[in-house]
Amino acid sequence: MGARAISRKAKADPSGDHRRVVLAVAAHPDDIEFGMAGTLLRLAEVGYQLHYLNLSTGSCGSMTERAEVVRRVRRREARAAARLLGAQWHAPLVDDLEIFYEEKLLRRLAARIREIRPSVVLTHSPQDYMEDHTNTSRLTVTAVFARGMPNFRTLPRRQAVSGQVTLYHAMPHGLCDSLAQPIEPELLVDVTSVFGTKVSALEAHRSQKEWLDETQGMDSYVASMKRMSEALGSMSKGFRHAEGWRRHLHFGFCGGEDDPIGNHLGTAACLASGPTRQARFYVS
Ligand SMILES: [Zn+2]
Repeated sequence: MGARAISRKAKADPSGDHRRVVLAVAAHPDDIEFGMAGTLLRLAEVGYQLHYLNLSTGSCGSMTERAEVVRRVRRREARAAARLLGAQWHAPLVDDLEIFYEEKLLRRLAARIREIRPSVVLTHSPQDYMEDHTNTSRLTVTAVFARGMPNFRTLPRRQAVSGQVTLYHAMPHGLCDSLAQPIEPELLVDVTSVFGTKVSALEAHRSQKEWLDETQGMDSYVASMKRMSEALGSMSKGFRHAEGWRRHLHFGFCGGEDDPIGNHLGTAACLASGPTRQARFYVS
């Protein structure tokens, strides 16, 4: 895959909305650190306020401890990771394997969206190896879509909000869908300069590192994240470590050409030249 640098400088948002608020919504504690944290850190450098939300408590992340202990430990770890990233942490809503595309969770997530009022939302790929991830992606898309609809009642009740939101999907685990078909990024963000912080934030999830180290060998946790970031970096033909993104179709969310990550990060981001890139202009 070829790639080309984004040469344009940051420009005014055509919607006239100048808020720089980014919310990352992931399924489990550590998912943000795996594929989104580097981009969050780069966005903070250009003035974005960072918000961090895991839908799940991470309750199944142990073979030995009871769920109530695991919930407590992972909450502490996620808060530490968010602190390291300089992001505002938001409490999870459900337990592992209980992230369903259902009404109550959708209303609760929609309330969070209206409270935070992000201008950029980062979430999982719509295609991924596990349903907690894909359901988080679907819930996030709908919760953002409903931000301005007064007749959609949130839990707790929050007033509808206006404003454009650009939604980006992270790369799936293994860079492929659940049928092992490759997924190509549309946009690559250079995270080399913030990679050390990204690793520290991932390592803040100590219980998971220890668990995976025991079951899969030393450092598999960090090593796997590093392999993915290097694979994406090599696609950019210039960045050592990268995170990849695909923008959600703009209808109902933002303008057809809105790309705040590309615009605000300038040369720290580049466009991949795969089929998704072409599709984007085909439909706009
Ligand atoms: Zn996960």
